[in-house]
Order: sequence, then C-alpha cells, then structure tokens
Amino acid sequence: RLDIRHITKRFEGKTVVDDVSLSILPGYVTCLLGPSGCGKSTTLRMIAGVEVQDSGTIHVDGNLVCDTVFRVPPERRSIGLMFQDFALFPHLSVAANVAFGLTGSKAEQEARVRQLLSRVGLESYMNAWPHELSGGEQQRVALARALAPKPRIMLMDEPFSGLDNRLRDGIRDETLALLKEEGTSVLLVTHEPEEAMRMADEIALMRDGRIVQLGAPYNVYNAPVDKAAVAFFSDIN
Ligand code: ATP
Ligand code: MG
Repeated sequence: RLDIRHITKRFEGKTVVDDVSLSILPGYVTCLLGPSGCGKSTTLRMIAGVEVQDSGTIHVDGNLVCDTVFRVPPERRSIGLMFQDFALFPHLSVAANVAFGLTGSKAEQEARVRQLLSRVGLESYMNAWPHELSGGEQQRVALARALAPKPRIMLMDEPFSGLDNRLRDGIRDETLALLKEEGTSVLLVTHEPEEAMRMADEIALMRDGRIVQLGAPYNVYNAPVDKAAVAFFSDIN
C-alpha cells in the first residue's frame, strides 16, 4: 500500500503541491484528476523519487521511503512507472524490454516474461522489435515491462493519451484487469473526468496543488465540492 502524508513542493517560491495526503490499498486504483498545471505530475515524481519534496513523508507497505532527510533511491522503491512517452527501448526485442528490470535466474526471468506477454496477448511477439508493433501493442508491452518486477505501487501519468479512441477503451479495461490481478496499488494521473470515472475506485480531485475532494467516483460526480468542480465535470455526458 501507498501512504503519502502532507507532501509539499515549492518551485521558486511558488507552492505547486500543497499538503497532499493520500493512501492507496493493494489492488485499488486512485485517480489523481485535475486541470493542467495543478501539480499532478509533480506529485507522481516525488513518489517515484525523481523529485524531492520540501516536507512530508511517503511509505510503501508501511516502510518509510522518504522524508526530508532520508531517501530510498527510485530503483529500490518497488514502484513501477508508465507514462505516455515512456517508450520501449528500440534496440531491444519485446522480450528483452519486458525482462529489463528483472533479477533472478534466466529461467525465472523467462517465465515471468512469458507469463506477462501471454497475459496481454502478445506471446507470439516475444522476438519482435518495438517498431514492428502498433501503438496499442507497444502500450501493452510497456505495461508488461512495468509490472514484470512485481512493483507494489504503479504510477501512471496519462498513459492512454497517445492512443486513438477506438483502442483506448479496450486497453484501459485490460490494464485495469491486469493491475487488479497483480494486486498493485495504482495512482493514475489524468485530466479527463471520463477516464477517472471509468478507471478509479477513488478519485482525488486536485486544484492549485491541493486535493479539494476525495471519494468514490459516483460521489465525486454527484456531489461536487464546489462550482469549479461542477464545471470541471460538466465535460462528461
Ligand atoms: P498537466 O496536466 O499539464 O501535465 P500537471 O498537473 O501534471 O499538469 P505539473 O507538471 O505537476 O502539472 O506542474 C505543476 C506546476 O509546477 C506548473 O505550474 C509547472 O510549471 C510547475 N513546475 C513543474 N516542474 C517544475 C520545475 N522543475 N521547475 C519549476 N516549475 C515547475
Ligand atoms: Mg502532468
């Protein structure tokens, strides 16, 4: 599980993430939803460990990952990342891409790669190159790669925004099913209310660096916290 407590980040005196707290249980998806510039990606980067917070703490499965003096390096946080432009390595085969972050014996690695690629329907592409795959197929490989080391937490920043509408719904549903099977705690960033409504167990509505509302999608949609939230959700129909 992921626990963020009172995280704050300032850039040049401007507070872009302001006292954010969130908990995500294993197998649950929380969508961080809000307009451009509200601090969503900065929040994810602090959890990933590529940005240092000015105050607050982050725990993974009850273990301190960082406070203002102590920091576990990004690669030892048991966190998987998936971004829109988080491209596959072009010089590595599909299988080698998925195996990239794996440790353990060759046989164990192969078994995990095969398990995930067959789970996303791409077992026959093991030896293909990334450029031989469609955008949707590449996205599935990226998901398999992110999940291969069994991260406890998955951070996703607008991972579906590069896909066309026709592909997007299917890949969203497949992604969700696989994340639930793996029991990962997921924090998914989006600025599309419709995506949050579809994917989230819980929505964290963010504005100007703060979480202004937190709750089940149905409740956030039906009982908006203020007029700005109403306006933000009015895009959905
Ligand atoms: P979007 O939906 O457009 O991706 P976002 O919610 O992810 O937006 P962030 O990328 O977290 O927004 O940025 C929040 C604010 O912090 C913005 O005003 C941005 O300009 C500022 N910011 C982010 N990173 C830096 C940085 N390294 N230096 C200075 N300002 C930054
Ligand atoms: Mg962003």
